[in-house]
Amino acid sequence: MIEKPVEKVIIIGSGPAGFTAAIYAARADISPLMFEGFMAGGVAAGGQLTTTTEVENFPGFPESIMGPDLMDKIREQSIRFGTRIKTETVDSVDLDSNPKKVFVGAGDSAEVFLAESVIIATGATARRLHIEGEEELWQKGISACAVCDGALPMYRDVPLVVIGGGDSACEEASYLSKFGSEIHMLVRRDELRASKAMQQRIFDNKKIIVHWNTNAMEALAGEANAFGQRFLGSVKVKNNKSGEESVIPAKGLFYAVGHTPNTSFLGNRLKTDDTGYLITSPDSTATEIPGVFACGDVKDKVYRQAVTAAGSGCMAALEAERWLSEKA
Ligand code: FAD
Ligand code: NAP
Repeated sequence: MIEKPVEKVIIIGSGPAGFTAAIYAARADISPLMFEGFMAGGVAAGGQLTTTTEVENFPGFPESIMGPDLMDKIREQSIRFGTRIKTETVDSVDLDSNPKKVFVGAGDSAEVFLAESVIIATGATARRLHIEGEEELWQKGISACAVCDGALPMYRDVPLVVIGGGDSACEEASYLSKFGSEIHMLVRRDELRASKAMQQRIFDNKKIIVHWNTNAMEALAGEANAFGQRFLGSVKVKNNKSGEESVIPAKGLFYAVGHTPNTSFLGNRLKTDDTGYLITSPDSTATEIPGVFACGDVKDKVYRQAVTAAGSGCMAALEAERWLSEKA
């Protein structure tokens, strides 16, 4: 096994949280080493925003910016101040050793990187259902983030579908009802998982139609536009009690079937809540292990936005810097 010099801080993960932590750590002269991942969790380095088109709600870009372009800029900004980046996925960690160990690869050929502190910013992956037609129409009417994409002109005054029965699905259906002509919620059981308050919001909203015991079967493309492109036109659904199939015309299909935080490389060493999100101290990014911090979507199941991820990345770097100087 090849061991390296001891770093002040290693950042694992490369979305808005990881790169913001890197900018702050680099400017604080603690020379961060980042592992940006190589298609970790099926997502390119740069994180979830690399999977989307226009980002309209990140401050500073009044004309909006493409997700991959935004991440390129934040990456570049982190490099400008001295962040060193490795395009590798971390396979495991030993956070109890002193210094802490970060492993790339396994067995005798694993490389081990050492650090006094570690910032975990590995994000979360939105679950997809992989129904027929989804691959072809992904981001052409199908999305996993209504708050991000719902306000786009293509979703105005047209019927939309939301899948899921949790708080996210209810929140997204309510949000989309500001734009769409009618919102069809596909719920696989005969009740919602969401809180009572969220449920009431759905039942009180005249634009939202709940389809109970219903599963999406297929995403169907609409007519080709003037440029020959085909976007979502309708969704084939099936009632799982009666077996009846039908087609709902829809220009948007939004998945709200949960997220999976990217924590498997931690080997259950850090505390998570019952849905797998890392737990940090209140108003802090500190985990239960001194010198280990977590930021962004890997610890946030409520807001899950680029700007909140960036904000908590900033907090993680400031807290790591403080921890390092108090320890010195
Ligand atoms: P992520 O962006 O998830 O990045 C984490 C990174 O860490 C990934 O690149 C991953 O590959 C890497 N990684 C994971 N495991 C490892 C490992 N073991 N080793 C090394 N690297 C690893 N938010 C907005 O504010 N506005 C929007 O318009 C918007 N649009 C969105 C559109 C879509 C389609 C999606 C899915 C999300 C959107 N979001 C939007 C949400 C936003 O992208 C996330 O809230 C934000 O990216 C979370 O940032 P993060 O840094 O916590 O993690
Ligand atoms: P969630 O609570 O896990 O709900 C996921 C929903 O998707 C459930 O209704 C589930 O159905 C459904 N689902 C899962 N797999 C499916 C499949 N294959 N086909 C069809 N439906 C499927 O996830 P979430 O709504 O993202 O919420 C995650 C956490 O964040 C929760 O703790 C929630 O309270 C919290 N949250 C809070 C707020 C808020 O307070 N404002 C907002 C958003 C999220 P079943 O019910 O049948 O399992």
